[in-house]
Amino acid sequence: MKPDASPCCDSVDSTKHERRAFLKSSAQVLSAGCAYCAMAPLHAKLLDYKLAASEIAKGTWAVHGAQEYFNLDNGGNIVNVAFIEVPDGVVVIDTGPSKRYGEALLALIQRTIPNKPVLRVYNTHHHPDHCFGNQVFDSSLIAAPQGVIDNLRLEGDGFAENLYRLVGDWMRGTSLSVPTVALDTSYENVGGRRFSLFYLSGHTSADFVVRDDETGVLFTGDLAFMFRTPTTPHADIATWQASINALSGTDKDLIFPGHGPQDRKGDSLTQTSDYLAWLDGTLRHSVEQGLTMNEAMVLPIPDRFNSLSVLRTEYERSVVHLYPNLEDTLLPEIELTR
Ligand SMILES: [Zn+2]
Repeated sequence: MKPDASPCCDSVDSTKHERRAFLKSSAQVLSAGCAYCAMAPLHAKLLDYKLAASEIAKGTWAVHGAQEYFNLDNGGNIVNVAFIEVPDGVVVIDTGPSKRYGEALLALIQRTIPNKPVLRVYNTHHHPDHCFGNQVFDSSLIAAPQGVIDNLRLEGDGFAENLYRLVGDWMRGTSLSVPTVALDTSYENVGGRRFSLFYLSGHTSADFVVRDDETGVLFTGDLAFMFRTPTTPHADIATWQASINALSGTDKDLIFPGHGPQDRKGDSLTQTSDYLAWLDGTLRHSVEQGLTMNEAMVLPIPDRFNSLSVLRTEYERSVVHLYPNLEDTLLPEIELTR
């Protein structure tokens, strides 16, 4: 049955992903009968991100997400987003996980800074929790390095499909809007404010960091996590550590990480580096000792990381991400021919 042909449910927009996600959830819906369909509009109204902004520096507003993994309760709002009032308008750093989030973010910006237009939207990297609210903003304003744009083109549709599966209706109407402005300069002036731009990598193959030169706030994207276990689906840990070193030496007054609270002393960089060093060392040692992936997955994690949320879950995911490549690199090749 086509979802938009259902006799008892409201029709839905017909994006490819939406249809696919709807069909997946339809199996459960249909088993519950039409009572569910009668409840659907009420359910939809409850999907409210309830975004709130806190001023972390003069004219700089933070919107903090939950320190969790994607689920049906948080709707993918696990991410840090920020917006900055500049003399002539507003600059936005990342846009959240869905169209619905983007709409809530834009409304929050307009309530907080009335009568000023959004002049620039930066995407720090291509992970879906950071840039699937893009479509709410004028695409001509969305900017990122070419590497971020390429990664989004390559993997964005797959990410969207995965998020539909993980958070369901929160994603309704969401589709990928790729940045149209490819940045390659070391700074740009936006609405009377200068922003320094840093082109790094390691969390992904293209990580973009922005510094507001007026306030000294450094927006690191996911090169820094605070009280949240770093994620590694596209990580190159040695490169990531080099980027953290570079950011540690960068002039700044406040670090706004991709996840977790802001900090003044560089704790987010230290925490992230410490965890990555332990993770890399542990997995390398496990491969060298001949442990299987399953055996590595249940290894103890040092108590000093207990303050990091979703620790065991993200560790297990990292084993899955990183172990095969480490085995390829570290285990001796066996000569199959004589
Ligand atoms: Zn990320």
